[in-house]
Amino acid sequence: MQIKELKTTYYETDNINELPADECKLINRAIEALASSYAPYSQFRVGAAALLDSGEIIIGSNQENSASPVCICGERVAMFSAKAQYPDSQILKIAITAKTDKFVIDNPVSPCGSCRQALAEIEERQSLPIKVILYSPTGKIYSFDSAKILLPLTFNENRLKK
Ligand SMILES: [Zn+2]
Repeated sequence: MQIKELKTTYYETDNINELPADECKLINRAIEALASSYAPYSQFRVGAAALLDSGEIIIGSNQENSASPVCICGERVAMFSAKAQYPDSQILKIAITAKTDKFVIDNPVSPCGSCRQALAEIEERQSLPIKVILYSPTGKIYSFDSAKILLPLTFNENRLKK
């Protein structure tokens, strides 16, 4: 049996000014999106903003429900909304942030497994990487050049074929 290694590469900074202007704007739109979060159960708000190739920015926030499986994450609201409104557009970048009164979020929030799968499939569909920018309220930023970096061995038909 061979040992295989998976490596992940990403960028980290606590200085938002190191980012290009469009990414600073995207983070700010994600922060604004926190206001529309509906999170009475978890008290954990998530805001996201997706930048399309048209320059349009589509926001999303987590929407909870008393029937827990109905809940949907903020980044999926943004992505699905973008694809529903602009099916021919490509998502270039997405910024995600979170807020809670329960504790200090010092490290950037990471997309859950379902959102990673959704991101990876949209990326596959559009044959163009989606840059993922994660922002913590304390100002720490992680940036990934492609959504697939967040989900090695992504589940999709093309990966299974020879
Ligand atoms: Zn999620």
